[in-house]
Amino acid sequence: MTKKPVSCEAPSSTAYELQIEQEHIKKNLEHVGHKILVLSGKGGVGKSTIAANLAVSLSLANKRVGLLDIDIHGPSIPKILNLEGRKIQVLGERMLPVQIGPDLKVMSIGFLLPDSDNAVIWRGPMKNQVIRQFLKDVKWGSLDFLIVDSPPGTGDEPLSIAQLLGDADGAIIVTTPQQIALSDVRKGISFCRNLNIPVLGVVENMSGFLCPNCGQQTEIFTSGGGEDMARQLGIEFLARVPIDPQIVQGCDTGQPYVRQNSAGETAQAFRQVTRRVLMLENESKATKADSNQKGAGRMRIAVPVVDGKLSQHFGHSETFAIVDTDGDSGQVLNRKDLAPPRHEPGVLPKWLHGEGVDVIIAGGMGQRAQQLFAQNQIQVVVGAPAESPESLVSAYLNDTLQAGENICDH
Ligand code: ADP
Repeated sequence: MTKKPVSCEAPSSTAYELQIEQEHIKKNLEHVGHKILVLSGKGGVGKSTIAANLAVSLSLANKRVGLLDIDIHGPSIPKILNLEGRKIQVLGERMLPVQIGPDLKVMSIGFLLPDSDNAVIWRGPMKNQVIRQFLKDVKWGSLDFLIVDSPPGTGDEPLSIAQLLGDADGAIIVTTPQQIALSDVRKGISFCRNLNIPVLGVVENMSGFLCPNCGQQTEIFTSGGGEDMARQLGIEFLARVPIDPQIVQGCDTGQPYVRQNSAGETAQAFRQVTRRVLMLENESKATKADSNQKGAGRMRIAVPVVDGKLSQHFGHSETFAIVDTDGDSGQVLNRKDLAPPRHEPGVLPKWLHGEGVDVIIAGGMGQRAQQLFAQNQIQVVVGAPAESPESLVSAYLNDTLQAGENICDH
């Protein structure tokens, strides 16, 4: 049953353009299992090193992997993977990624540069155009994972990439242990929360020096700060990667570390990061199984509640009624009441998606929140009156819901 949500504002032309672009990108990436962003607060912390080793590691686990390097400021992936000097091949209107072995495809902004010493001096709109083309026009084919090496920071470039990707499955935040870098992690986490991208975890890179001779670890900067911060913010801490001369050597010779090494602390750290990404496959199988359990024709509807009736301010509601229904017969089957997580932008759509909710019936809701619900495949009905969840759900199922004006409280 498809219902037309009531909208409180006309979409602006930029929002409309973004939507069209997102649709093209979605189509281009429709055979990609999971999209992962690798982010960092600033350059030089080892983001590309982690992205490249993660991609290679996943391909060594027989996954089909794409590595997309759109770090305009320092596209170092060609160097790390010994692909310097490669040029982009075009087939019709599509660009072909460079294939390494049977399972790894790579596309990099670096392939557009005449040589590795050339800085990219494109101006804003041009950069944007190139990034958009990379997302829309690269022929990836079927992939299990697409790893995106994003520009550093939380500014306009990473923002536009994350928005264009639309439904990234997760982000890995790379940092170094110093306090200054840690404040960037906070920004990275709120960046992801605002965009509703799940943070898979934090990687603390260059965390202590691993002596190649005696194998002893020396703390050069204070270390463990990334771990403390991750704990404070309720984010998973994935791994500490030490300063390891073999990583530098690997980057310089185009032989990524994980291809050459499988023992020791550094290899173990890369395995931990890879394992977390591989877990996404099991998580999505579990979500699918859960939604199959609901059965054909079943629909789960959420209603924000206060004093037993619909709350007009869904974002501040302390209880959500989750009502299971039989969409075919229009019957309410059962109801449970859940307390939502702490209110922050983007948290509720993700949480309700995790609860298997298909539709939310709300009083007022702003355009941005509606977009976030749509990105989580939750249909929004706004302008509903303050009545009990059961009566609203029944009215909705029987097409008699009197939806009034959407009064946005944002
Ligand atoms: P970013 O992508 O954040 O700008 P890079 O991945 O290009 O950073 O890394 C910057 C430099 O640091 C590279 O020369 C790389 O070889 C080196 N590097 C990264 N991580 C480590 C590490 N754990 N140990 C030693 N060198 C590292």
